[in-house]
Amino acid sequence: MQRVLARGEIESLDHTSIPRLRQPVRASVFADRAARLRQLAQGSPLSVYLSLMADLADAQNQAVKHCVLPGADPERVSLAQAHGMPPLQAVGWRRDPAWRGLLAQLLDHMAGVQGLPPQAALTIQALRRSLRDRPSELESQADALLAERESDVDAATAPFIMAALQVYWTSLAADFPASSLPVVSPRGVCPICGSLPVASVVRVGGQADGCRYLCCSLCASEWHLVRVTCSHCESTKDVAYQSIEGGPEGIKAESCDHCHTYRKIFYQEKVLGVDAVADDLASLDLDMAMGAAGYARASGNPLLWQHEKVEP
Ligand SMILES: [Zn+2]
Ligand SMILES: [Zn+2]
Repeated sequence: MQRVLARGEIESLDHTSIPRLRQPVRASVFADRAARLRQLAQGSPLSVYLSLMADLADAQNQAVKHCVLPGADPERVSLAQAHGMPPLQAVGWRRDPAWRGLLAQLLDHMAGVQGLPPQAALTIQALRRSLRDRPSELESQADALLAERESDVDAATAPFIMAALQVYWTSLAADFPASSLPVVSPRGVCPICGSLPVASVVRVGGQADGCRYLCCSLCASEWHLVRVTCSHCESTKDVAYQSIEGGPEGIKAESCDHCHTYRKIFYQEKVLGVDAVADDLASLDLDMAMGAAGYARASGNPLLWQHEKVEP
């Protein structure tokens, strides 16, 4: 006779077979993002900005390849394990000043890009001066960005500073030994660095096939969350999927009528090269539509700090 599994048992089985965490791959994470940004820029009303961010992702790709940082502090890791906290927490953790060296590399790369928009060229020059003369201001901006204190964020320099912080944390996340991850993690934030997700992707292939992963806005790690669950309040009752009629395939807004927020969800079976940061950036029309329908974005895009105030 076949044994029938109770609901709880089925879930626990699922739990063991679905990878909980997908760590970023140093060799490809930013190269893939740059390629996707270039693809999305074609014919987009945002093509100038998307192309600029593609150049920045190229610079990130170069920087992360050669990036050698002091790894996770063992004391910090055991503390995180004891308390179920993200071991490389971005807020309140003393980052190594090496991140400013990464910023310098990104700015050097960007300064050599042909045909930069004039405003971007000015911002890059100003940031290079700040690196030389006022590093403490950059540290304060980095703190404001990581804590998402929007009122303290300078929108013009934010994408560049954020890009350097992404390289720093992505490098640490890529090297982090998965076996050292605490058994439990706080809900709703990245289990590695504690940042909010930018969006989610339903993956194809391997053990993750058909599973939904939330994508970290900072360290590019992805963590599993059961589908049809609000990624903000974890309600499973009031979740709906909305898209723009005649819009691109493979993208929806997962909205929640319990907390009145939404995050975008991308379906890799429709767009193989989907990248949560890039695809989120390229679909501001869906944000406008969701804002008009009365939903707030659950969290922002790390490379754009001006569209958060989209009001209904
Ligand atoms: Zn993270
Ligand atoms: Zn919710």
